[in-house]
Amino acid sequence: MRYFSTRNKSEAVDFTAAALAGLAPDGGLFVPEEIPPYPAAVRSCLGTMDYRDIAFETIKPWVNPDIPDPALEEIVYSAYPFDAPLVGVADRQVLELFHGPTAAFKDFGARFMARAFSYLRRGEDKPLRIIVATSGDTGGAVADGFFGVEGISVTVLYPRGRVSPLQERQIAGLGGNVSALAVEGSFDDCQRMVKAALADAELKKRLNLSSANSINVSRLIPQAAYYAAAAGRALAGRLDPGGEASPRTGDYGPAASGQDRSARNGEAPGAAGATGSAGTAEHRVRKGQAITLVVPSGNFGNLTAGVYAWKMGAPVRRFVAATNINKTVPDYLSSGTYLARPSQATISNAMDVGTPSNFERMAAHLSWTDMKESILGAFVTDDETRNTIRAVHALAGYVLDPHSSVGWTAADKLLERGLVSGPLGILSTAHPAKFAETVELLTGPVPVPPSLAKVMERSPQSSIIPADSSALKDIL
Ligand SMILES: *Cc1c(COP(=O)(O)O)cnc(C)c1O
Repeated sequence: MRYFSTRNKSEAVDFTAAALAGLAPDGGLFVPEEIPPYPAAVRSCLGTMDYRDIAFETIKPWVNPDIPDPALEEIVYSAYPFDAPLVGVADRQVLELFHGPTAAFKDFGARFMARAFSYLRRGEDKPLRIIVATSGDTGGAVADGFFGVEGISVTVLYPRGRVSPLQERQIAGLGGNVSALAVEGSFDDCQRMVKAALADAELKKRLNLSSANSINVSRLIPQAAYYAAAAGRALAGRLDPGGEASPRTGDYGPAASGQDRSARNGEAPGAAGATGSAGTAEHRVRKGQAITLVVPSGNFGNLTAGVYAWKMGAPVRRFVAATNINKTVPDYLSSGTYLARPSQATISNAMDVGTPSNFERMAAHLSWTDMKESILGAFVTDDETRNTIRAVHALAGYVLDPHSSVGWTAADKLLERGLVSGPLGILSTAHPAKFAETVELLTGPVPVPPSLAKVMERSPQSSIIPADSSALKDIL
């Protein structure tokens, strides 16, 4: 597969160059020359294949010939010892993307990226040094993904005192090839310092610096796999049992049932008006019906991966772009005018993005007509987000995190307006225990998944540095 920049279609590079560079030299994003369709034999089996086999089939054409099949197989099996279950909750489905080690969907991208980088750089003796700035979530996933990967070290910059205790342990509790710098400043300071280091040609070359930000195409491609898996299972009329980390509480029974209380008791699901839809099974998966997938979005990398899966042939009926009040894309979809703006703080803070960097990539693949047809937009306020967390918990004993609640609420809004019909799935991008300080006020205690409980036992070790590029240069 060859990739070219969204801003210059004449110079194509291979997967290795696109992945290791991250951003194209002209400032554009790398996009594939064409989107490879699934072979018919794969497409017809998506509903029954193992997750790792779907990941292998999804990624294979994108990395060909740079990563040969046996190496790719090893990479996906080691990256994904966990699944992305599609479970029934109240009147609809939730696609749980938080069963990885840092309990957010970013594990899917970061774990593949780390292993792919390691393979692509095999035989090089000079170690690669990744630097990344984080406001919380990305740093944890990148640190965890690259932890223990040979020939690569990672330095994470985070704003001192402005990440949660859990996030600090995810970033700074690993040690080994991951080092953490607590910057006496804001996230913007961290980002500025990273950019300055990467722009310092002498430093970049001497230390072999690279970055792992979310616009890297190697973080997106593996995310297409869970869309294909979910869409395939939905079309086959199948649901999964929730894993051990499924956030169900109280007397609603074991997660393994894959059902909510109302469904188990034989009541019509979705009876409580607070989450919108009427008490029917219309939005449950049914054999032969393609699912509509709702994507809580910030930088729009996740939704771009969904569009890739759909163009490869995954049986998705439609997407919903769900945002908090940072509603640049929903506004664009309703008005046709793209207006980037400064971000506003919300309780779904991983989606506080006013200028979504992956939009340029989405627009490169979809004409305005295609976009209008395949993506519906809706935005959600913090009060609405809280109300839904409370209502879904009361109805089904299931705890949504604030980001997933934005997705659920956006679906409710479109259902009210009659814009969505048929099977409906909400992508759950994080486990609610990551945002316990917000969620527990609404639902009571949230069960902590084993991966996060282990993280809390670590002690964070970081060096404190001033918000100053020369301090970073010295320490590097
Ligand atoms: C990063 C993140 C998002 C936003 O994903 P994009 O790919 O940037 O649209 C949503 N939810 C959570 C929990 C995240 O960490």
